[in-house]
Amino acid sequence: MITGCLSIFLILIAISAVIAVGIFVLPFIAGVYFVLSYLMYSRSKNLEASTMECPNCGSRDIKIQSVTTGVETNSSLNGSGTTFLGVGHVWGNRNSRTNYKQKREGVCQSCGFNYDYLTDEDVTKTKNSSKLNLIVSIILLIVSILILIGFLGRSKNNNSDNSSIWANEITAIDSFEYYLDGNNVYLKKYIGKDKKVRIASSYTIDGKEYVISSFAGRVFNGSSIDSVILPEGLVTMSKDTFSGCRLKNIYIPSTLQTSDDGYKFYKYFYNTEKIYYGGTEEQWKTLTNNANRADIDVVEIIYNVNPNDLNN
Ligand SMILES: [Zn+2]
Repeated sequence: MITGCLSIFLILIAISAVIAVGIFVLPFIAGVYFVLSYLMYSRSKNLEASTMECPNCGSRDIKIQSVTTGVETNSSLNGSGTTFLGVGHVWGNRNSRTNYKQKREGVCQSCGFNYDYLTDEDVTKTKNSSKLNLIVSIILLIVSILILIGFLGRSKNNNSDNSSIWANEITAIDSFEYYLDGNNVYLKKYIGKDKKVRIASSYTIDGKEYVISSFAGRVFNGSSIDSVILPEGLVTMSKDTFSGCRLKNIYIPSTLQTSDDGYKFYKYFYNTEKIYYGGTEEQWKTLTNNANRADIDVVEIIYNVNPNDLNN
């Protein structure tokens, strides 16, 4: 049972690996197929029907016999001396073990040399099939390259979206769970899908304007967001507002005030890139209760930031 589960697991991994890598491998496979098809095609162009003359000794005493080709006869065919059908057999064997084909072979009665005997019909067939092969391989190559370009183009677009650190637009109020009290709106939980969040100082809900001065809960707890712009006017928030959320960039307004028990919201920053702070460095020190810089896991803290500059 356990080995059964394991093999299913391994198969699933293999399938996802093929799907992930396939887009990149497909053009290479198509390229190899194209090169082989082109070689076959260029060889078939010079192909001529065989004559009743031994290529080895020139004797005209040739006996034509019918041979069944396939996997079993493959090794004996290698010594036949004709190069083109050697390649042809490679393709023929690929099809199926049971797919035997009839072909003619010339056997020299003087020296015993044998060679693939091609009639005019054989030559025409081979030329047509190698031409078809070439056309199919070219189509396959073009399609696989187009798929790759399309895929790369799409991921490039996604990247260019990601190149902007901040949300371009205000995050809608229905991206949050919230409650209203007096003139205030209290955000409880972020439930939006966007990884970039820009919170406005006030929201108009049912025709009435509500101000944000405080969060009511761990708004971004466990959210997978990349950046957040906190609103001007925000005075308090729970110190674990950002718990379990690996934020990369954050704007903190100067209106945020320290709390009596030591305001350690920064304790939840992990591998954060930049804190953009609206106030002065002195204000920051007051806000964080003179926290040791090493205790704040952020690469850089920028002071005196104007939130209107946070466009890209
Ligand atoms: Zn001969």
